[in-house]
Amino acid sequence: MRRAAALGARHILAASSSSRVVPLRHMSADAGAAMEKIRAAGLLRTQGLIAGQWVDAYDGKTIEVQNPATGEVLASVSCMGSRETSDAIASAHSTFYSWSKLTANERSKALRKWYDLIIAHKEELALLMTLEQGKPMKEALGEVNYGASFIEYFAEEAKRIYGDIIPPTLSDRRLLVLKQPVGVVGAITPWNFPLAMITRKVGPALACGCTVVVKPSEFTPLTALAAADLALQAGIPAGALNVVMGNAPEIGDALLQSTQVRKITFTGSTAVGKKLMAGSADTVKKVSLELGGNAPCIVFDDADIDVAVKGSLAAKFRNSGQTCVCANRILVQEGIYEKFASAFIKAVQSLQVGNGLEESTSQGPLINEAAVQKVEKFINDATSKGANVMLGGKRHSLGMTFYEPTVVGNVSNDMLLFREEVFGPVAPLIPFKTEEEAIHLANDTNAGLAAYIFTRSIPRSWRVSESLEYGLVGVNEGIISTEVAPFGGVKQSGLGREGSKYGVDEYLELKYICMGNMG
Ligand code: NAD
Repeated sequence: MRRAAALGARHILAASSSSRVVPLRHMSADAGAAMEKIRAAGLLRTQGLIAGQWVDAYDGKTIEVQNPATGEVLASVSCMGSRETSDAIASAHSTFYSWSKLTANERSKALRKWYDLIIAHKEELALLMTLEQGKPMKEALGEVNYGASFIEYFAEEAKRIYGDIIPPTLSDRRLLVLKQPVGVVGAITPWNFPLAMITRKVGPALACGCTVVVKPSEFTPLTALAAADLALQAGIPAGALNVVMGNAPEIGDALLQSTQVRKITFTGSTAVGKKLMAGSADTVKKVSLELGGNAPCIVFDDADIDVAVKGSLAAKFRNSGQTCVCANRILVQEGIYEKFASAFIKAVQSLQVGNGLEESTSQGPLINEAAVQKVEKFINDATSKGANVMLGGKRHSLGMTFYEPTVVGNVSNDMLLFREEVFGPVAPLIPFKTEEEAIHLANDTNAGLAAYIFTRSIPRSWRVSESLEYGLVGVNEGIISTEVAPFGGVKQSGLGREGSKYGVDEYLELKYICMGNMG
């Protein structure tokens, strides 16, 4: 292994890389105390993880990780590129043989221990997430549970991977189908769920016997590195899980060009997903994509208004609207439009905007300035085309990247708010007359990830669910993701499924074995 031999003093810092962490006196009291807790738990990692070693970039470059709520720099982390990625691939490749040869039970034990450690360090992981991503602590704790659930689930599910015996066409033959791990997996993940988008991929990959190179978002590497640290502590062997971060296109290209990487699994924007899919063609890799959504949330006039308001609020505003399954378009039947709008606005007004470390906060900042500018562009486009801002519609007085919880009325299908993912705390309301029109409006998009329906009618909920061109449908419920059910989109929202027994298949190859002369 090239890197293992090359690892000299320059690349390995001591276990704690405190020299690269911003002194606490430069931070607000809350953030400083939170960082101290994380550091005391040994979970403040700033280097990449390759072959079980914490390493710097070859050229020593670093990038800063900022707290979006305050702008303060939390840490500088290694900024890696193609050389470090090649090392990580070599490490994953050389570990594949031993890891994949373990029994499912042996792999399961290590994963179970990783799960236990994540749960034991729930608070530090949630604090890291809130600091680098901005989500309120309550949501961050929820994500730790959700993220950990994939490791626990797949530790068990991988014990139930069976092949097949096929009745032969010639009597002296025996035909078998084996399920085997695909090999080295490159996992590229976004910033909006800094832990769960990693464990949803790494859990099943490791459980199946694959080894992994993870590239987390440059905005949220600290949570990823802390989780990887816990994996090492749990006994996941050196090289089975590697983490590189920094120059995204360079790392992406290195993963795509390597013939040793047999699968790319990506969660992120549709634009980058398309590039990765095209780039996988050269080496004919397997590809799974979890891309952007544009979820419709259809409120029929027979809906229980309280249930519909509660469900739409949760589906729209969690994570400040920065979720791929966010209710991006709330379609409301004409008969209850006014009633729903006023109840919904009242509920939105109850959201408390603030720093996620404060207990009272229910909506944190957006990830960065570019995200706020995108929201502003969408609002300007909508108002210039006749929509009316019913609540909010501007930056929050807290400054930074805080944006007011916003409701926009009379949105139509020629507006950006209808056509694209706004990825911010903006709820567009769109009136409709009939069920047919609602289905037509809901499907009038290239995306196809999540959809929501609110109705008291069982036949209608069934009929409409079947007609929606989406991978997930919530009926009278705004938050539906769980580790036991398949998650993924149709159309340009992606390829493949994560979670559940179906998520295992993404990391397996079928091998047919024909045994002759058995008669
Ligand atoms: P993004 O596409 O900008 O980045 C995602 C990841 O790809 C990051 O790690 C980034 O560094 C990396 N990346 C960027 N350019 C790359 C390149 N050329 N080669 C290789 N890697 C590259 O997305 P984002 O802004 O981090 O995340 C938000 C998007 O993710 C939204 O569109 C959201 O809907 C989507 N998302 C989808 C799901 C899902 O399950 N379908 C879940 C969460 C987020």
